[in-house]
Amino acid sequence: MAIICDYCEQESDSAHTVTKYDEEGKEKGLELLCGLCYAEWLQSIKG
Ligand SMILES: [Zn+2]
Repeated sequence: MAIICDYCEQESDSAHTVTKYDEEGKEKGLELLCGLCYAEWLQSIKG
């Protein structure tokens, strides 16, 4: 299944869904990320 990454807007075969939260910890919604952006996102939440 090909997806368009919400972050880099490139087509990708590997889709990862992440949940975004606002400052109060409420769910803002879902984002679809490609493998590369997902790896970067994982790094960003680890600090
Ligand atoms: Zn991407």
